[in-house]
Amino acid sequence: MKLRQLFDREGDKKDIYLDIPNDELGELSGVGTFLTPISLRGDIKNRAGIVETDCVLSVTLRRICDRCLNEFNREYNIPVKHTLIRGADGADGFEPAVLDDNEYIVCDNDTLDVNELAIQDLLLSLPTKTLCREDCKGLCPVCGQDLNLGGCDCNV
Ligand SMILES: [Zn+2]
Ligand SMILES: [Zn+2]
Repeated sequence: MKLRQLFDREGDKKDIYLDIPNDELGELSGVGTFLTPISLRGDIKNRAGIVETDCVLSVTLRRICDRCLNEFNREYNIPVKHTLIRGADGADGFEPAVLDDNEYIVCDNDTLDVNELAIQDLLLSLPTKTLCREDCKGLCPVCGQDLNLGGCDCNV
């Protein structure tokens, strides 16, 4: 997405309406199975010279619980905001350089790769532990019984 005009003009705004189809998300299979496209809805605004994105990222994933190993489906609606900073003109890559805290994004050539940004936002927003529910009891380490379905006789 070319943002030259947006960077130049205070008060300017661009809508973001993006769907990344499942078949372009194959390399992300580590996070689960995509049951829907990744959708990103929102806008980019130049407010008094500060350029900010304000979007909601939505996707439904089928994932595997770290504790009980059961599959579960979950819909994620993740608010994502970033401040965009002008990068170097004539720089080589068109990829956005995402800085450490992921809040500021440097746009070389005034260009933002919105697809790439949405994917990075998703990866960074997913909880590090994948649980079917917050209080999942997991499996008995001795007999393998799913303790969500009832106790076993192992006394662990
Ligand atoms: Zn579980
Ligand atoms: Zn047991």
